[in-house]
Amino acid sequence: MSYDWKKIRKIDAHVHILPPERLALWKGEESPWAHADLEEFYQIMNEYNVNKAILVPTNDGRLYYENVDRTNQWLGQMQQRYPKRFYAFADILKEGAYFYEDTPYVLEDAIKEYGLKGLKIHPSNLNLDMDSLEMVPVLRKAAELHVPVMIHSNPCRVGFHDNCAPDKINKMIQIFPDVTFITSHMGGMKWQDALTGCTYVDISSVLPEFVDLYGIEQTNRILRMFGPDRLIFATDYPDVKFTNTEEIYETYCDILNQMDFSEEEAEKIAYGNIAKILNIKE
Ligand SMILES: [Zn+2]
Repeated sequence: MSYDWKKIRKIDAHVHILPPERLALWKGEESPWAHADLEEFYQIMNEYNVNKAILVPTNDGRLYYENVDRTNQWLGQMQQRYPKRFYAFADILKEGAYFYEDTPYVLEDAIKEYGLKGLKIHPSNLNLDMDSLEMVPVLRKAAELHVPVMIHSNPCRVGFHDNCAPDKINKMIQIFPDVTFITSHMGGMKWQDALTGCTYVDISSVLPEFVDLYGIEQTNRILRMFGPDRLIFATDYPDVKFTNTEEIYETYCDILNQMDFSEEEAEKIAYGNIAKILNIKE
């Protein structure tokens, strides 16, 4: 192989960094969230030529701020503090029945006032089905604002198993052809459902899990089935199973170096696809 994933320039399209007050709650704990630290992450980025990262929230007031507007404002400040290094997607929260009414305005402020670049939806944390009618106003607003929508899709949690399932995301992709959707974690263990429907997928969180389950050759076949035009490099830093936080990029690059992508294809996955979605020129 003529190139090395550690050295090629990359955009990590799925990263969690916590606001300082929330990060402080995890410090000293054995949790990966103790590493959701901007300064710590910034060092790692530089080591592995991660040129840019997309900071994405989790629709979870216990992790980010309980005041969603404050989270979005803080994310906007991170973009400003590190121009061209960090881009951020807007958070939304569900408070009782207000989701339907409030979220379009929350998103509009996040984009217009704080300069955020997209919307992150985590249906499991919202306890809302992705194809619920309640999602329609905020998706309509995303279309109007011309911003991409990233959706957590790793059906896992008992009782809320199915609300982020790829087929539900695909329904919304059909209904909103004017929105660019990114299905996170390749649809998780429902990746086969993501294969035929969901458009762009990020490879965060599940890549090491796939290798563990299926081995390198089968993982290569799965990535090939999606193809280099749909895959987006991402890790889900710092919350990755099967690897230590400090070793996330080591693990990811090591796996990706064993795939059969040409250098040109790797460039699309590592940088080009997400740069096109976000209109990043440099
Ligand atoms: Zn995530």
